[in-house]
Amino acid sequence: MELEPFVFSHAGALVGARAASADNNDDEMMAAVNRFALRPLCADEVAVFTLDLCNNQVDKHFSRFPDEELERINRLTPGRPLMERHDLRGSLPRGTFFRSRLHSEHDCVSVRPEVYVLRASDNRDFILNIEGGVYRETSIGFSFRTPECAVCGKDLRTCAHIPGRSYGDALCHFIMRDVLEVIEGSVVPAGSQGTRFVAQQRATPETALVRAREAWHQPVELFSKHWAEE
Ligand SMILES: [Zn+2]
Repeated sequence: MELEPFVFSHAGALVGARAASADNNDDEMMAAVNRFALRPLCADEVAVFTLDLCNNQVDKHFSRFPDEELERINRLTPGRPLMERHDLRGSLPRGTFFRSRLHSEHDCVSVRPEVYVLRASDNRDFILNIEGGVYRETSIGFSFRTPECAVCGKDLRTCAHIPGRSYGDALCHFIMRDVLEVIEGSVVPAGSQGTRFVAQQRATPETALVRAREAWHQPVELFSKHWAEE
């Protein structure tokens, strides 16, 4: 049986806004932006924000990206869209991730991309909401092939370990392997559950695992539905 890719959203943080100014760093930045623009843009036409997308620590959903997957995400992010509150129902992207780097702080390595948003009239309120600190959290959609169990090394959909529970000295968590895609990034109001506006198929890792295990067990486990209702 071919397992479906694992798709979920991951909370991140906006770490900064960059004021437009005419210095040398801007030239470098605008060269990176202009790899994605059909007409060369100048610095005062865009707002640029920096985000922390994901890191190598075990997060509150008991999931963790190993370093080699962070490198892959870092490569896949430039060119992906930035949305407002995961509103995928016909709304246009607000911005484009244009470059990304790995940022290290003590033993924490994070993927830290920059995104540009055109200072068009349609984006005015969106930019104001970020600059004014109303939208200050981010949520990124990923898909990956293998949620590896940190305890036994098997695919978590096929073992019985429960993320967040300790087994001896080992804390069970997802090790997210074989990242396929960075789908989009979203900015969400501060303090909101980043997943509230998530499209139907998106879930937190916990609920995605419950669904995936149900799907995995359905053909072989006659009572799986009954269990789920208890
Ligand atoms: Zn396991």
